Amino acid sequence: MNYESPHEIKAVLEKCGITLKKRWGQNFLINRGAREKIVRILAPQPTDTIWEIGPGLGALTVLLLDHIQILIAFEIDRGLVRWLEAEFAGASGLMVCQGDVLKNWMSMYQKQGMPDKICGNLPYNSASAIILSFIRNDFSAQRMVFTVQRELANRITAQPGSKNYSGFSVLCQSMFKIETAGELKPGSFFPQPDVLSTIIMLAPEKRINSQEEKDLFFKLVRAGFSSRRKILKNNIKHSPDFSATQRQQILDLLVNDYDIDTLRAEELSVESFIVLARSMVK
Ligand code: SAM
Repeated sequence: MNYESPHEIKAVLEKCGITLKKRWGQNFLINRGAREKIVRILAPQPTDTIWEIGPGLGALTVLLLDHIQILIAFEIDRGLVRWLEAEFAGASGLMVCQGDVLKNWMSMYQKQGMPDKICGNLPYNSASAIILSFIRNDFSAQRMVFTVQRELANRITAQPGSKNYSGFSVLCQSMFKIETAGELKPGSFFPQPDVLSTIIMLAPEKRINSQEEKDLFFKLVRAGFSSRRKILKNNIKHSPDFSATQRQQILDLLVNDYDIDTLRAEELSVESFIVLARSMVK
């Protein structure tokens, strides 16, 4: 199939009786240069097992299969799954897993083990939930290349003090080394989305030492950013995640280095959140 041709995509969708659903972010990548770039950044090796999230009609799948033998693709749309199974019938290494990747990735991991790499032009509505689900479960391939809405990429990479810096930025940066690898204009997709997209590359970076430290870190981030209007001290004071003793411990630790009567979570670096959690571990 010619993946650069909106005309051909429309014809395939019509022939298969597939109507596009906005909630599944079905914007197909028609820019050949962008597809090749994503694959180049992913750097697939012949022995790699790769997961693809949301293969759609297979614009990336077809390029990936040129390089590797095992590709597991998670696609929610039954019509697209039927198309992929027919179009790639000769590709013995391709396994298409029908359903919501958020519900299916864990059991696939338990059955098939950790993939070497993961990629996907992520559906805009679920991109943050997918990344968060990997973070919560301490799951990361050695390299993950995703296309996400530019606003989400800005939140993922935001630095302390900036308007985009949030609990999500802290969680992402606590677990991954993140690089942005270029922007894609709406015209790179069919149908065109209303937003710009950014290619991001994530690689695991172990900064948290133990499960106890991680639990405390997650609680600190959740409590810290629970109300952006409040200073950190007040968010901690009202957090149901901590005992009275822990709340006091946090304030005692913070008071050594900060003016806790003005300090906001947005001012604390990722490292500071980690150090704070580490100091709380008995
Ligand atoms: N990779 C294709 C491309 O680049 O042309 C399609 C990308 S399109 C932005 C997102 C794809 O993810 C769609 O095929 C959509 O059906 C699928 N999708 C959306 N939500 C999903 C979910 N929760 N689990 C699995 N696939 C999903």
